[in-house]
Amino acid sequence: MSAAVPGSTPLSAARIAAAVRRGERSAVEVVEQHLAVIAEGEPQIHAFNAVMDDQARRAAALVDQRVAAGDDPGPLAGVPLALKDNLCTRGVPTTCSSRILEGWRPPYDATVVTRLVLAGAIPVGKTNLDEFAMGSSTENSAFGPTRNPHDQGRVPGGSSGGSAAAVAAGFAPLALGSDTGGSIRQPAALCGVVGLKPTYGRVSRYGLVAFASSLDQIGPLTSTVADAAVALEVIAGHDPLDSTSVPEPAPRLVSRLDEGVDGLRIGVVTELMGEGIASDVRRRVEAAAEALGAAGAKVDDVSVPAVTYGLSSYYLIAPAEASSNLARYDGVRYGLRVDAPTTAAMNTATRTAGFGDEVKRRIMLGTYALSAGYYDAYYGKAQKVRTLIIRDFATAYESFDLLLAPVSPTTAFPFGAKADPLTMYLSDVCTIPSNLAGDPAVSVPFGAGDDGLPIGVQVLAPALAEATMLRAAIVLEDAMAREVST
Ligand code: GLN
Repeated sequence: MSAAVPGSTPLSAARIAAAVRRGERSAVEVVEQHLAVIAEGEPQIHAFNAVMDDQARRAAALVDQRVAAGDDPGPLAGVPLALKDNLCTRGVPTTCSSRILEGWRPPYDATVVTRLVLAGAIPVGKTNLDEFAMGSSTENSAFGPTRNPHDQGRVPGGSSGGSAAAVAAGFAPLALGSDTGGSIRQPAALCGVVGLKPTYGRVSRYGLVAFASSLDQIGPLTSTVADAAVALEVIAGHDPLDSTSVPEPAPRLVSRLDEGVDGLRIGVVTELMGEGIASDVRRRVEAAAEALGAAGAKVDDVSVPAVTYGLSSYYLIAPAEASSNLARYDGVRYGLRVDAPTTAAMNTATRTAGFGDEVKRRIMLGTYALSAGYYDAYYGKAQKVRTLIIRDFATAYESFDLLLAPVSPTTAFPFGAKADPLTMYLSDVCTIPSNLAGDPAVSVPFGAGDDGLPIGVQVLAPALAEATMLRAAIVLEDAMAREVST
């Protein structure tokens, strides 16, 4: 399907905001155009759980009034914004694509939503996800899957599949996702858009429905690296409402984008380039390494041995934290309630009806890993492995400024292709290590696979080094643009 606003080429968030701020385009017109693209494409793609037409129109009119009054609405003036449906929006249903939250309307906005709206962005809808962000294909949504705009027989990735598809389909130039084990980067790679997971603590998690609190981060999905930089500048920075938020202002990113990679040392992670990674994906990572080398970086292979254990460690820690976080859905405090004669029977009936299979599997796995007699052997050991991963990354960053790796082992796969949970879990083998380490990473579109579908390349950085990471990302974006035009 076409990824364009009818009658024009798709505009980046930066270009929309520039035109709206100068009064050259009205926010109302921008929003109407995007709502028209949504109306045309959404029945096929199903990127949204809800489209917020009326609110979007009203918010756009307010932005236009401010421009007319001589105010500056901010760096995202008039930019349509798609929000993953695990981000709280005041008065607007927030479902996490789960029946258990059906009908729940949060009484407050997530900090990221407040900040984006203050910067002039216009929320246009809540996007589909794997239930409670558990999955890699959006097939675990209680409301049906999202389709990949590049091939509607294939998944968009997950869990932020709706957000990635919304950007790829031209429904919104900017979307937010959450990334606990790869849920921003993997769908971005499969849909051919940019997806950035910031350093843990860089962006406030206040108002993000918790999955695994020591791993969850919110970040942008966009069609350009520059848009990701603008969005991250807006949403980053200390928030007293999140006790894990880094007590620093947002970093300067946009003004540093054109500093280049001359002299940067970039390591290709050998453990993530071997068995299980499709050869077309590996070739694109090698091509990215060459492009960075040609731009002046010193590129070499680097071993980060403990990343091999990332998946095993993550699938104990994440379910353990999820089993605790999801205990709050008891039929009393949120959404669904299935009545039964006793409170315990009501809890069970509600949870049985309200949670899907994958969520139940995670709760059981996590409860088991935390139970007396197994805690040290499973949860405790997984935490020790997590420490090894943190140390191995720290060692690698003594010799390298950035690392390079695949994002997804393959391009987008057909619906139903990974029915076995373990096969699905392998989708995250290259993305999970950065979550365990708490480090930032970005997926940059870098060409196509043998099947013509998008491939993303992952740039990884040490904690708080998003500015350096984005310098490499934009060099790759430029190299790709040249490759396509020659
Ligand atoms: N696919 C991974 C999981 O199912 C990661 C999900 C995420 O990052 N939210 O746990």
